[in-house]
Amino acid sequence: MITLRQNIAEMAGYVPGFQPEDIASYIKLNTNENPYPPSPQVIDAIAREVGEGLRRYPDAASRLAREEAGRLYGFDPSWIIMANGSDEVLNNLIRAFAGEGEEIAYIHPSYSYYGTLAEVQGAKVRTFGLTEAFEPEGIPERYDAKLFFLTNPNAPLGFTYSQNYIADLAGRLSGMLVVDEAYVDFAEETSLELVRSLDNVVVTRTFSKSYSLAGMRLGLAIARPEVIAALNKIRDHYNLDRLAQAAATAALHDQPYFLECVAKIKETRAWFTAELEKIGYHVIPSSGNYVFASPPDRDGTRVYQGLYDRKILVRHFTDPKLRHGLRITIGTKEEMERTIQALIEIGPGR
Ligand SMILES: *Cc1c(COP(=O)(O)O)cnc(C)c1O
Repeated sequence: MITLRQNIAEMAGYVPGFQPEDIASYIKLNTNENPYPPSPQVIDAIAREVGEGLRRYPDAASRLAREEAGRLYGFDPSWIIMANGSDEVLNNLIRAFAGEGEEIAYIHPSYSYYGTLAEVQGAKVRTFGLTEAFEPEGIPERYDAKLFFLTNPNAPLGFTYSQNYIADLAGRLSGMLVVDEAYVDFAEETSLELVRSLDNVVVTRTFSKSYSLAGMRLGLAIARPEVIAALNKIRDHYNLDRLAQAAATAALHDQPYFLECVAKIKETRAWFTAELEKIGYHVIPSSGNYVFASPPDRDGTRVYQGLYDRKILVRHFTDPKLRHGLRITIGTKEEMERTIQALIEIGPGR
């Protein structure tokens, strides 16, 4: 007999996007990975780390990566923490700010993993819905949740909140506002200025999407030094291995390559959106590397299956607020052309 903590026994656990074994035979547009390889400088930097030096522990402070991030974003490195995927720092934010029975909140639909992490901690979870115009509904004028996670751009829907809205929300909260900017590199505006001007705003980023490094597990957070110091107490002291630190530093350094990949994805996103609309799909204008699109008959399951049968993987959520559509990652132009062809074959369903 094992006796688990009750919240662990009762929780369902998070289900990540499907990763097929024969991955090469699919067009894989279901987990918002980048279709382009990491920068050649990243591959070189990792290769240089592979060798005798691996017997030594890595730099516990990830100093070079933080300095590179600091130069890029205009912050002193004391405002930056590196993470083993942004999921790690989201988890540690909950551990730092929300004790057992205390409340955390996020928008539904957005990234439901916040809820899973909170359940592990034994924190209470509250979600707020969205109006038709994508305005959060029902957030109290003064709200004392310990943490509020705002995914901006929203995933899976792709819209953004204005910086005015985000600043106003931060002002209404007695706890921390975490702006999860996993997709912000594909958008036009960031909340980094709010981190400087307001004392309860944290921004998190990931290297998984815009830097093509989902397989390396790299993320970071930018916040006031007091917050970073608290997060440093909580994390594994060697949270980034040597390869990851080298990869992060090189990826942030090679901005020309990064900007070129991001520009290609934005261009393909615009093309794909227009093509979907031509065949009668409803598409939410997206600021991420994905679009949320619904077929004319609003039967997401039917189209998911049709694409799956043609070896194209997209993300379908069974949630009542999302099941009418699909979240489709923006791949290469060729992958998206083949997706459009497949959708034409599958038909409008009415
Ligand atoms: C992908 C994603 C993350 C996780 O990023 P990792 O760095 O891969 O852990 C966090 N938040 C959102 C909204 C994401 O889509």
